[in-house]
Amino acid sequence: MPNSLATRIASMRASIDAVARRAGRDPAAIVLVGVTKKQPRESVVAALEGGLTDVGENYVQEAREKYAGLAGARKHFIGHVQTNKAKAIVETFDVVQSIDRYDAGRAIARAARGVGRPVRALVQINVSPTERFGIAPGDAPELAARLRDDEGLDVDGVMAIGPNTDNRAEIARAFALAAKTLGTVGGSTLSIGMSGDWEEAIGCGTTMLRIGTAIFGARA
Ligand SMILES: *Cc1c(COP(=O)(O)O)cnc(C)c1O
Repeated sequence: MPNSLATRIASMRASIDAVARRAGRDPAAIVLVGVTKKQPRESVVAALEGGLTDVGENYVQEAREKYAGLAGARKHFIGHVQTNKAKAIVETFDVVQSIDRYDAGRAIARAARGVGRPVRALVQINVSPTERFGIAPGDAPELAARLRDDEGLDVDGVMAIGPNTDNRAEIARAFALAAKTLGTVGGSTLSIGMSGDWEEAIGCGTTMLRIGTAIFGARA
C-alpha cells in the first residue's frame, strides 16, 4: 500500500526547501517537526516510515501511549508544562520546547537529573496578544540564565507561536521579535512556524517548523 503520508511529507519538505532557497537560506538548517496531536499512532508510525525524523505533542497523557517504543524519532513536548507532569514529560520526550517560567524549568531539570540524562529545552516566548502562554521577550534572557544555572537542562533557544491572524505583516513582525530574542537568550534553535505561517517563519530565520494539519490533515 502506498504511504500517502510519505507523499505529503515529501511534498511539504519540497515546499519548505524551495521557500528556503528563495529566501537565501540553507534548507538543511530547517528541521521539520510533525505535530501529531489528535492523530492516531498509526499515522505517527507511517510518518516516521515516510521520512519524518521529529514529532511533537501538546499533552503528555496522549503522547505516552502513542509514542511508546518508537525508536529513532526525536520527540518534542510543545504543550504547557505542568510541574506535576515533569517526570512523565522527561520520560516521554527528548526536547521540551515550552519552558515559560522558572518553576516549570526547575521541575523539568529535576526530572532530567532523575533519569540521568540532560534534556534539551527551549524558552517559550510570547510574541502575540492572542497567545496565553510564553514569557515576555524582555524577561527571557534572565529566565534562560537562571535555567542554565540548574543542572539538567540544555537551554538551546526559543519557541514562539505566531499571532492568530491573516495579517501577514503582523505575523512577520512577531517572528522578527522571536528571532531577535533568540539573540539575547542564546542557543541555536528558533522554533517558529506552523501550518498557516511557516513561509513567514522561514523569512525570519526559523530553524524548526512545527507542522500539524498541513501534513496530517484536520484534527478530530
Ligand atoms: C498544534 C500546534 C502546532 C501545529 O499546528 P498546525 O497549525 O496544525 O500546524 C504547532 N505548535 C504548537 C505549539 C501547537 O500547539
